[in-house]
Amino acid sequence: MKIIDILKTHDKGVSFEFYPPKTENGMNSLIATVRELKAYKPLYVSMTYGAAGSTQEKTKEATYMLIREKEFVVMPHLTCIGANVDSIKKLLNEYKQNNIENIMALRGDPPQVPSGTAGFDFKSQALCYAKDLVSFIKENGGFCIGAAVYPEGHIETKTLDEDIEYTKQKIDSGANFAVTQMFFDNSHFYNFLERAGKKGINIPVLPGIFPLTDIDKLKKFCTVARTTVPKKIEEEMSRFRGKPQDMEKCGIDFTIKQCRDLISHGYRRLHFFTFNKSEMIKAILNAIF
Ligand code: FAD
Repeated sequence: MKIIDILKTHDKGVSFEFYPPKTENGMNSLIATVRELKAYKPLYVSMTYGAAGSTQEKTKEATYMLIREKEFVVMPHLTCIGANVDSIKKLLNEYKQNNIENIMALRGDPPQVPSGTAGFDFKSQALCYAKDLVSFIKENGGFCIGAAVYPEGHIETKTLDEDIEYTKQKIDSGANFAVTQMFFDNSHFYNFLERAGKKGINIPVLPGIFPLTDIDKLKKFCTVARTTVPKKIEEEMSRFRGKPQDMEKCGIDFTIKQCRDLISHGYRRLHFFTFNKSEMIKAILNAIF
């Protein structure tokens, strides 16, 4: 089933994003997580793709595991940096043969990220931007296509106007729905939707929810993602340095508040970055629904 058709008929629900485990133990633990989260009847589940295709085989393996679990609509992610069109075509054909109808189309990052993209020749790539991958997938087979969007602007863009212009091009290339980068101040999401609406972007946009657990890891992550950590969150979570369980509880309380605010503003479809763990996701979902 195509995710866009599910979104047309469901104005409420969750989706879960997983990453492909590197080891057998990791896979067993992911299977346990996935089974725990089945009870929440996700609208769909997705599987990320490593930088420059580094986890292609693992992504496929984990995607097929999700399919074998039977109850899910599954969407593998795919990036175009470092890939050639023949290999992408081959992968799309394989996915089609396995009845996969949805692809999350991303540019990806060159291997030197997080130290930066300076010096990387994007133009030398067969498919340079996500919009090129979106067009390519559109031409190669009837998939429903998801794209990434950035409430605070993508880190490589100079202004929010530039960001929304490129976002519009990506949607116009054929993306059917979008998932946002993490954000912790919902006003960034609401403002993004306003900018998007003015630009004529009217596809469904699911807010990407990043459960808060560790303030120090989060800050490192946010620097390379251009996501602002609100002062209040930083101060409150920092009070629990050296007490990881208390810090996680404090963080999860913030995430619950964030989700409640989104729901109260009418955004009742939430996409969760699960980090392959079920406990924190269950704590959030049990509190908000
Ligand atoms: P693009 O939309 O191509 O944008 C990249 C940059 O190029 C932006 O700054 C954009 O403004 C600019 N740009 C676009 N078009 C033009 C143009 N015509 N001229 C000049 N500049 C332009 N990465 C992975 O490796 N694997 C994953 O599985 C993965 N999953 C993700 C899931 C979500 C929900 C999100 C938000 C991100 C994910 N990423 C993943 C990260 C993503 O690959 C990076 O953020 C990457 O830097 C940009 O990808 P994009 O698809 O948004 O690229």
